[in-house]
Formats: sequence, C-alpha cells, structure tokens
Amino acid sequence: MHAHLVCFDPACRAQFDIREVLYNCPKCGGLLEADYDFSALDAPALKRLWRERRMDNAPLNQSGVWRYRELFPFLDDLQHVVTLREGNTPLLPAPRAAAYGGLRDITFKHQGFNPTGSFKDNGMTGGASQARLLGMKRVACVSTGNTSASMAAYASAGGLAPLIFIPNGNISYGKLAQALEYGAKTYQVEANFDQILALVRTLAERLGIYLLNSINPFRIEGQKSIVIEMMDQRDWRVPDWIVLPGGNLGNVSAFGKGLREMLAHGFIDKLPRLAVVQAEGSSPFYDYMAAKGSNPFTAQCHPKTLATAIKIGDPVSWPKAQFEIETTNGVVERASEQEIADAKATIGACGIGCEPASAATLAGIRKLTAAGVIDRDADVVAVLTGNLLKDPDYIYRYHTGQLTAPDGSPIAANFGNKPVLVENNAETLAALIG
Ligand SMILES: *Cc1c(COP(=O)(O)O)cnc(C)c1O
Repeated sequence: MHAHLVCFDPACRAQFDIREVLYNCPKCGGLLEADYDFSALDAPALKRLWRERRMDNAPLNQSGVWRYRELFPFLDDLQHVVTLREGNTPLLPAPRAAAYGGLRDITFKHQGFNPTGSFKDNGMTGGASQARLLGMKRVACVSTGNTSASMAAYASAGGLAPLIFIPNGNISYGKLAQALEYGAKTYQVEANFDQILALVRTLAERLGIYLLNSINPFRIEGQKSIVIEMMDQRDWRVPDWIVLPGGNLGNVSAFGKGLREMLAHGFIDKLPRLAVVQAEGSSPFYDYMAAKGSNPFTAQCHPKTLATAIKIGDPVSWPKAQFEIETTNGVVERASEQEIADAKATIGACGIGCEPASAATLAGIRKLTAAGVIDRDADVVAVLTGNLLKDPDYIYRYHTGQLTAPDGSPIAANFGNKPVLVENNAETLAALIG
C-alpha cells in the first residue's frame, strides 16, 4: 500500500510506516500527517463512482465519509471500518443569516447533523477504524466535549473500550452525558488539561491504549471528507470562502489538506479562501497571525469563552493551520461573547440552530464583510460544527436575559425570545396573542 506517516515539519519530513503507533514525529517532535501515492487517481471516474455510491445501500457507501475513501486510503482492510453513517450533512441556505452577516447569500454546511451531533464524527470514524486495524482493544482521549462524546460512540460501536479523562470540576454536562450513555469509562483527575494529557500518554504506552486526541492523523484524514462532500454537493464549484471556528485547529488543517489534494489531482480548479474565527477570550492563533509571525506562537494559559468547544489556549495543530491559511490566502478573525451569542440567535431564527462555537462563523463573517475583506456578493460556505442541543442551558439563559460572559459582564438578549407567563384565562390570552 502506498500510504505513509510523514512529519509535517518541512525541515524534517521523516517517513514512518502507516501502522506505527505514533502521535508526534520521533525524530523532531513535529506533527504527523498521512501521505499517499495518489498518482493513479482518476478524478472524473471517481466523481461518477461517488455519485453512484450515494444510491447504494452498502454501509461504507452510505457513509458520507467512507464514500470518498479513495482520498484517504490509509486502511488496507476496510473490514475494520466503524461507521454510524456519519457525514451526509446538508448545505442549507439562510437568507436571514446572510443579511445579518452583510452578504447577499450564505450557505451553512451543518455538521451538527452527524450521529453524535458534531463534526468530530467525521474524524472519529477514521481514528476508531485505525485503532481496530492496529488490533487495539482500548482507546482514550482527554476531553469534556464533543471529542469524548464522539469517541465513546465510535469505540462502543466498534467493540473497543472507550476511556475518557477529564479535569476535575470542568465539565460540560450535555456532552459528558453522551459519553456516559455511550458507555465510556470516565476518570476525573485532579490536574489541569496538559498534566492529564501527559499522564494519559504515559498510560497509553504502558497499557497499549490508543490515543484519539486531536493530533491523531487519522482523525484529520476523516475530517477531510467535510470539504470533499461539500464540493460534491456543489457539483465541484469551489466557493470564494469557507469559514469555520478554530479551537485546536485540527479542522482547518484537515480542510486545507483535503482542498490541496483535490486541487493537485484535478477534482477542483482553484482553492477557496479559508477564514478561521476564534473567540476573543481564547484567541492565541488570531494573536499569532495578527503579528504576522514576528512573535513566536504563545499559548494562552487561561482561555475564557462560553463557546466551550473552542476554549483552547494551546492549540496543537497551529503549524498546520498557519500553513493552510497562508496557502489559501485565508484570514483569521475573532468575535466577542456578545457577537457570538447574537449570531447564534440569528442562525436559530433561520430554523437552523447550532452550538455556540459554530456561531463564531457568522459573527466573524459580519466583521469581515464590514471590514471589506469578504465581498457582499461572495459565495460563502460557513461550517456549523455542532448541534443546537449540545448546549441548551446557554440558549435558555440568552433568551431570558440571564447569560453572562466568563468575566461576569452581562450578555444582552438582543434577539431574545422569552417565554411569557400567562394566567389561565382565554380572554386575556386571546387579547395577548391578537
Ligand atoms: C472541536 C470543535 C470545534 C473546534 O475545532 P478544532 O478542530 O479544534 O479547531 C469547533 N466547534 C465544535 C462544535 C467542536 O466540537
């Protein structure tokens, strides 16, 4: 098979067997990526094949990830695939959100339609399948969020035991509830995120547990399917912009890699520009890119945002993200808690809805159109990364005017929609409803 693991660092580029259990380059410590011999790819034939697969009932062809498996051929034995029929997420036009964002039109690619409600499923089907190919029995991650919900589901569906490690007292209940229900053994550790990650790495090596944290290169490969499916759904017409939220920056890395590979092998004829939006209180990548590389990358020790899925102070994939932003002539923006909350309510009022991190896209677009970076007539796809029901508490608080930012300042219910308390009386109710 013509697949390798390669060090992402251009100064190293060391190669390793695709079946080695590695999380970083053993030579230089850099990030790893999967690399393939794609010389035999036939783009027109594959486009036809992928369309035919949409009408096929075989599980792998029904998956909106594995349908496109020729562009991430890291498994030489497909019987190891764990699929919950992930992907197949819609492109949704949203005129009201477009107007709010200063655009004539906008399309949302809604990854919240995935089996566990976030795009982590696109990647986790890849990571869990590789774990099975490697003969692993247990998988682990450090997360209180969508990663743990997704890992728990894919591990259990694939007959692997999921282990989740979480910092004590730092729990997002909606997502943790999913992980518990999907059968993950969950350990709360008296330490911070980085300390726990170090601990889990030691344990993984000692006990032969496979780590499915966000630098796992096979998760990134699965996430490429989001842009592949997007192009297929658009009949291979490339948008001007693809906008997505940024936390650990794995997703923008996956988008960039997938797009470059599609361009290199004749699936598309240009690259879209990528725009990543971070939350103001958790924006180390924004700060780094705004300084145009004149300062070294600096992690943020205490990131703060209610958009917990992008509350990441030390994003592991920043070197890949920087490369993809520069290659696509992209931009990095940031949005405040108020801006994210209002954008989120606007997406909800379109009948679409999403979790807070996802709404950073529309908040960022509004700023980028105002600044003249994105043109009003541009063809823009924004990726909604997670489902509305991931964080119902936030929604209720916003609409009832009780939401406060992490610094304690109130968030105005600019688009609030408060339940109305009424007496049990038809006359007054009729007058009220009108
Ligand atoms: C994980 C996640 C993100 C951040 O993605 P990265 O790849 O870490 O940048 C954004 N939104 C949601 C809903 C997520 O689950």
